[in-house]
Amino acid sequence: MAVAHSLGFPRIGADRELKKALEAYWKGDLAEAGLRDVGRRLRAAHWQAQAAAGIELLPVGDFAWYDQVLTHSLMFGVVPERFRDSHGQVTLDTLFAMARGATQGCCGGVQAQEMTKWFDTNYHYLVPEFSPDQAFTLSWTQLFEEVEEARALGHRLKPVLIGPLTYLWLGKAKGAAFDKLDLLERLLPLYGEVLDRLAAQGVEWVQLDEPILVLDLPQEWKSAFERAYNLLQRAPLKKLVATYFGGLEDNLGLAAGLPVDGLHIDLVRAPEQFPTILDRLPTYKVLSLGLVNGRNVWRCDLERALTVIEHAAERLGERLWVAPSCSLLHAPVDLEREDQLDPEIRSWLAFAVQKCAEVAVLARAAEQPDDPRVQAALQTSRAVQAARAASSRIHKPDVQARLAAVKPRHSQRQSPFAQRIEQQRARLNLPQFPTTTIGSFPQTGAIRLARQAFKQGKLALADYTEAMQAEIRHAVAVQEQLGLDVLVHGEAERNDMVEYFAEQLDGYAFTRFGWVQSYGSRCVKPAVIYGDLSRPAPMTVEWIRYAQQQTHKTMKGMLTGPVTMLMWSFTREDISREQQARQLALAIRDEVCDLEAAGIGVIQIDEAAFREGLPLRRAQWRAYLDWAVDAFRLCASGVRDDTQIHTHMCYSEFNDVIEAIAAMDADVITIETSRSQMELLEAFRAFDYPNDIGPGVYDIHSPRVPDTAEMVQLLEKASERIPAERLWVNPDCGLKTRAWPETEAALVNMVAAARQLRATH
Ligand code: GLN
Ligand code: ZN
Repeated sequence: MAVAHSLGFPRIGADRELKKALEAYWKGDLAEAGLRDVGRRLRAAHWQAQAAAGIELLPVGDFAWYDQVLTHSLMFGVVPERFRDSHGQVTLDTLFAMARGATQGCCGGVQAQEMTKWFDTNYHYLVPEFSPDQAFTLSWTQLFEEVEEARALGHRLKPVLIGPLTYLWLGKAKGAAFDKLDLLERLLPLYGEVLDRLAAQGVEWVQLDEPILVLDLPQEWKSAFERAYNLLQRAPLKKLVATYFGGLEDNLGLAAGLPVDGLHIDLVRAPEQFPTILDRLPTYKVLSLGLVNGRNVWRCDLERALTVIEHAAERLGERLWVAPSCSLLHAPVDLEREDQLDPEIRSWLAFAVQKCAEVAVLARAAEQPDDPRVQAALQTSRAVQAARAASSRIHKPDVQARLAAVKPRHSQRQSPFAQRIEQQRARLNLPQFPTTTIGSFPQTGAIRLARQAFKQGKLALADYTEAMQAEIRHAVAVQEQLGLDVLVHGEAERNDMVEYFAEQLDGYAFTRFGWVQSYGSRCVKPAVIYGDLSRPAPMTVEWIRYAQQQTHKTMKGMLTGPVTMLMWSFTREDISREQQARQLALAIRDEVCDLEAAGIGVIQIDEAAFREGLPLRRAQWRAYLDWAVDAFRLCASGVRDDTQIHTHMCYSEFNDVIEAIAAMDADVITIETSRSQMELLEAFRAFDYPNDIGPGVYDIHSPRVPDTAEMVQLLEKASERIPAERLWVNPDCGLKTRAWPETEAALVNMVAAARQLRATH
């Protein structure tokens, strides 16, 4: 019988119970025992839900108080010195201090560990910090306790661990420079100890996640795999190595040959791995097929998956397992609760609980294809696929016709930058080192309350509009008083830079409870692209026009770009990401043109997620960058030469994508640079980046107000790399998370810094 298993389940809770409990605990409103109780109840409920859906082998170890990578750091004693109290005890508060920093308690005044994106997902993990003399000691027993817990509930279980190579890969060498791979020999005995202990608990199978096997790996890392797993082979329990988020490609032979008992592959992201894998896998090994997408919200096309299952069952028999493509951590919890979704759209969706049921059906089908439950599920699936393929809510001939008529010239401004900028300078008449901000001003409690009241129908549209206009008047008055050159309206009316636009586009749906963990207690609820996208009416024009009416200075229109809209949404699977980006581009293009027609001379199109979209494998970068750049150009190129297009990206590493950034051909790009002391501008200098640049001169993530001298010094550094006439002066990013007093104080200094530079250059 094919085994139905799951690689991991969302831990946050269908009602974000974990989020609420964590935040109450951090505030001091919930005691540790209460928090632990919530965790225990969630684990029990999640095992129960998976088992009820038909999952036979349940994941244990997918629960984490904050982040699963952090749990591993605790388990192995990878707790940097600054988090250790005088007794060397590792407690729940140590864990939270590592995650969030601490101002008091056990390790007062310490900075949290760094956080970064988990592969190409929107989940963020805490980066392990390794010192050259790093010792590893078993310091955290959560996993063993949870194994007992699941066992006591009568479940058949499979502990989940991050494999040793992936764990090391994710970490960072701190202190003296050294190769973290050198730590492997010291780390492996710990894995041995953990596995032995699990075996002693009666565990039969353990899952070791090695997603780095889908990356371009240096040769030393590839070689280390065999060494490591040869050593782990001794532990008396069976091991399943799990890979996901891509194809094994050049690592296929390596992964198939590891001395373990099973391999999981992601057939959603990399379907071409099947059937090749069948010929490469030793005949004693289990093959787990990831056929149900763990990263999206659509129902599985069971018929298509079944063709794979049938073929695999024939070859593998008992050795066939079925699973979601990756951990369900990246999917919302339960569709059952979506009582306000349009029924037609709802019928196309599956969240984590429903995905478990799909896995179970596929596993059953391997054994008994004629089982009535299998047949019924298959029939429903066929009906859903057919309905989607024919639905007029999805397929819009006018959108498709418009896309088909797009010509290369539509992605091309009328004149080259050198000519455009002359016309823009003549029109805008700005000083040297023009000052601006990135768009948002503080989202105060009053703003949020007004929006909430409006959404709940407690505040009339006219009153809400007046409240937002008052915010705009205030923001404009402050900016005029500060002496900024290019003003913004402040984005008070926006809840979120993607959702705000998605709500106004046709083809987007919204869930009520479709939360996915982003990091710690933070969750996001991405909008769902279900159909061809279009813009029925202008989205921002009235607000921006109103803002412009309040001032004689230049008002900058503010939009979110197509790539960022796409990256932060759940996307369609029936058409490519490229096509969806182009549809978004046309919708935004209309807005850009309407803003221009309303007399707006500067329009910023934010592409915060541009770099995030880069594929995991280098060989696929070119293709992505080509369509991503083109989508941006398509949305930005409908305007006259004297309309100035800005873009904004809130990071950092541009070295490897600078050519693409230049190809976007925005007249001005604003970027985050203050924390790197302008070193990030090096990429722009080395490439001879031709257009205007606004390197952020202060960090908006902290309430600290930098003084003028500090910003002058940064700008001087910038002007060593970029000609002064092409430099803008602005903060690193939007100011929505800041309060007004520190915002004004910092901007006063920023304007003063720009004036000083004008006087000396
Ligand atoms: N315009 C947005 C803001 O100022 C940009 C946010 C972002 O890049 N993340 O908030
Ligand atoms: Zn930003």
